[in-house]
Amino acid sequence: MSKGTPSMGKRSGKTHIACRRCGSISFHLRHRTCSACGFGKSTRIRNYKWVTKRPKIPTH
Ligand SMILES: [Zn+2]
Repeated sequence: MSKGTPSMGKRSGKTHIACRRCGSISFHLRHRTCSACGFGKSTRIRNYKWVTKRPKIPTH
């Protein structure tokens, strides 16, 4: 088993498809949940403060 171009042909089964809510390829087919926005899991959009880019604040 190599990890170059020949092994890329084995990538046939898909786990994630385009999400209906956020549009990113993060909707898991078997879980029926979106890993990017939490669609199927929660009614609120999945958002964490470590995800969103915030301005740099000097600490010293
Ligand atoms: Zn989503």
